[in-house]
Amino acid sequence: MQSKRIIIAIDGYSSCGKSTIARGLAKQLGYIYIDSGAMYRAVALYALRKGWLTEKEIDEDALRRHIGDIHITFNPNAQGIQETFLNGENVEREIRSLQVANGASRVSTLSFVRREMVRQQQEMGKNKGVVMDGRDIGTVVFPDAEMKLFLTTSPEIRARRRFEEMVAKGEQAEYEAVLANVKERDLRDTTRTESPLRKANDAFELDNTHIGIEEQLQWALHMFHKITAQNE
Ligand code: C5P
Repeated sequence: MQSKRIIIAIDGYSSCGKSTIARGLAKQLGYIYIDSGAMYRAVALYALRKGWLTEKEIDEDALRRHIGDIHITFNPNAQGIQETFLNGENVEREIRSLQVANGASRVSTLSFVRREMVRQQQEMGKNKGVVMDGRDIGTVVFPDAEMKLFLTTSPEIRARRRFEEMVAKGEQAEYEAVLANVKERDLRDTTRTESPLRKANDAFELDNTHIGIEEQLQWALHMFHKITAQNE
């Protein structure tokens, strides 16, 4: 018998491997993976393109007026990997730039942006069978999620992984600058007034600084089976 479908919420700092575990779990369980960070990135891209988000400021009034025009969806590509669509346009590559990442970290502090993204996320999870990763999934988006994970990794390791990813893509990068960026985003994520990053009381915490991906995935699957067996 197939077990009851649940919601799996995975939260944690930037670049601590949330999406790898979330994708792996979704694949093994036949669940839908939703990358909530990609949604804040898509909002930032929209605002950047409109000229409402610059190095110095955000035109909050314009963004507030048009927040309802931003519709984000996910569709699998030919390899079955979910890609992000902004009002029907595939923006998967564009939202991964450092400029968009920094913009996302800024627009995600705005309450009206969060309200709209949370609404869209809750809609996506209403039939359960989803794995969603982000910063506030277990605390705000799905406080009743049956399974919650909170991942942590040292900032130095996260910066090292990101630095190596950038170098592999042929991008110009300096380790110290990447580390400073990781720390800056952590600070913004944990200190913002709107839904700051924090571990839900009922989340399982995993420090994966010294744990490989396969081991983490096995651990998470074991937990899933325990939770669903209890819920039967
Ligand atoms: O996870 P990712 O780096 O793609 O997220 C982009 C930005 O969106 C992060 O800097 C974070 O501040 C924000 N975010 C958020 N709430 C979420 C997911 C991401 O505030 N649920």
